[in-house]
Amino acid sequence: MYQATRTLPSIHCPISSRSLLLPISSTVALADEASEMRARGESVIDLSAGRVSEATDREIGAAGSAAIVQGITHSTPARGAPDYLLAVAEKLARENDLIYVPETEIVATLGCKNGLVLALMSILDPGDEVIVEDPCFVSYGPTIELCGGKTVVVPTDPANRWTWTREALERAVTPKTRAILFCSPGNPTGTVHTEANLSVIAEVASQHGLMVIADEIYESVTWGGRRHTPIASLPGMQSRTIGLMGMTKSYAMGGWRIGYAYAPALVAERMTMIQGHLSTCASSISQVAATRALRADISKRFATTLWREWEDRCVTFTGALSKIPWLRVEMPEAGYYAWIDVSQTGLTSTEFANGLLHEEKVVVVPGASFGNASDAYVRATCVKSRDEIATAAVRIRSYVERVAATGQPQESLL
Ligand code: PMP
Repeated sequence: MYQATRTLPSIHCPISSRSLLLPISSTVALADEASEMRARGESVIDLSAGRVSEATDREIGAAGSAAIVQGITHSTPARGAPDYLLAVAEKLARENDLIYVPETEIVATLGCKNGLVLALMSILDPGDEVIVEDPCFVSYGPTIELCGGKTVVVPTDPANRWTWTREALERAVTPKTRAILFCSPGNPTGTVHTEANLSVIAEVASQHGLMVIADEIYESVTWGGRRHTPIASLPGMQSRTIGLMGMTKSYAMGGWRIGYAYAPALVAERMTMIQGHLSTCASSISQVAATRALRADISKRFATTLWREWEDRCVTFTGALSKIPWLRVEMPEAGYYAWIDVSQTGLTSTEFANGLLHEEKVVVVPGASFGNASDAYVRATCVKSRDEIATAAVRIRSYVERVAATGQPQESLL
């Protein structure tokens, strides 16, 4: 095995305070720790990051391989390859009832996270405020701050399926507010925003002249017959929405780093210009594979096979967890995650997650990583293999029963 032997003379490297102040992505860090434990031969079940157990579909993969063999290996235009942009526009029209012009209103991104960076860089001036949900995806705050903005966290109402009340949202708006960033279907809560939920956001945005950034990365993986409604489809909202979608979740393509954004032409043009500097373009190979994935026959096939299988695993896993005394969990409306209320164990979310990792080798994400309001929760990915979720449920039960036996659970709730 290769081992580097030389040492560097110690000199002072300037490190930016921006990077020093940045919290680590807890989901990525936990997934990395789980990989290291596995490499040491430990039998870890990693339910931290939202990564399914399946590899990318063979037909989609074959399209990517063919692109390599055919020499489609050079940079594409910064906005994206025309075929990909067209496939995105057709998909948006067919599956989301959204009409977007491929040449001017769509941008190929290196996944949804990169789309968020381009969106924020296009609309924020230093110090501009962006409103986000609490709880929300771990990378929103750090990304906003890296792009020079200020994150304004507004708690959602757990009694109202973790959505904003109009009053709470309205109260957070200041003259510095530039945008509202929200996620539907939601991570970590799984909430699929109804038209009534979306109207609250749309009305506040319209009244105060704000942009809306809609993270819709889980749009296809909705459960119980629910359907995702893009906020851009509400009256007047297309001209103030930047929508972020992609292949990572719906098509098990996280490693291809490919997604897309749709936005008013002026914003999409800025995003394209910034992409030209930051990354040149999204991968040509990934764009070919994603073009194949976006054709109607693939989503039809996934809707009756893989997406149903994932839904079933979510039902199985949340069903097993809900039978464990001291845990409260419901089937999510969409997405990959069990959002588990662990408050009756008497542990904080971080204590629960650490204990579970070290005693039972199951990795979950503490709710505290998603915001201040969620320290009673942990998030666990449901879409691992059947064996893994069955074993994880057994281990979680053992852990919780042990915690209960040592007297941690709140007496009043036992
Ligand atoms: N947004 C949300 C809400 C997510 O959960 C994730 C992945 N966990 C992303 C964005 C990142 O998506 P991508 O891998 O396409 O950048």
